[in-house]
Amino acid sequence: MSLEKSIAIDGPAGAGKSTVARMLASVLGYRYVSTGDLYRALALEVIRRGLDPYDEAAVLEVAKSVSIRVEPTVDGAQRTILNKEDVTEEIRTAEVDAVVSPVSVYAEVRKHMVEAQRAIASDVDAVMDGRDIGTVVLAESSHKFYLTASPEERARRRQRDYARKGRHVELADLVDEITRRDRVDSTRQVSPLRPAPDAVVIDCTTLSPEEVVKTMLAALGRIDACFTLSRNS
Ligand code: C5P
Repeated sequence: MSLEKSIAIDGPAGAGKSTVARMLASVLGYRYVSTGDLYRALALEVIRRGLDPYDEAAVLEVAKSVSIRVEPTVDGAQRTILNKEDVTEEIRTAEVDAVVSPVSVYAEVRKHMVEAQRAIASDVDAVMDGRDIGTVVLAESSHKFYLTASPEERARRRQRDYARKGRHVELADLVDEITRRDRVDSTRQVSPLRPAPDAVVIDCTTLSPEEVVKTMLAALGRIDACFTLSRNS
């Protein structure tokens, strides 16, 4: 039931998926799940062990031997636990950004991750964001969205995220990083990033998160929930 009812949000890095997914989940009373955090935790462990992210056997060995979990927080966000350690902050670094896409290309690694994600959505209605949610993880869902935005706008949003944490990162470096990640994510053989045929595609370049969520609520036939959105925002 939850697998059909849960909402899939896919799109490239920095398109604003996590912000709108979290808002939408809060308005609908669903659980917010950022699936990228599972891949990020795996990338962090590969870095910590000093392994080569292009060594498939080594990465798979890590994927099989670690415990990675995501848990909802009381404020509607998500915490990521790697072998009992809270790594929510550690997985959001440039070092992890550089390694996460290469470790996410392997079929066996993805199989593990998809199983964990489907287990969550079997239990509870979820708003899940990622790259293969509409095409693989929640393929049977009737509610799929694909968010895009120009690479420059996506880089600006990432820059603002870093600035909030007190870090300055050059815009050109962020454009390079997200363009490289998009290329790996959309050209990999297994579950490449692409809109599901039945996804509603929303270009978020000039839209605020509230506007995007309203568009989604309209597509879901839940205009009534816009009231909760205005009250929360
Ligand atoms: O969503 P986020 O940008 O945190 O995802 C980090 C990376 O994890 C992506 O660039 C992609 O390589 C990988 N990923 C994936 N499939 C998902 C979610 C994320 O391959 N469902």
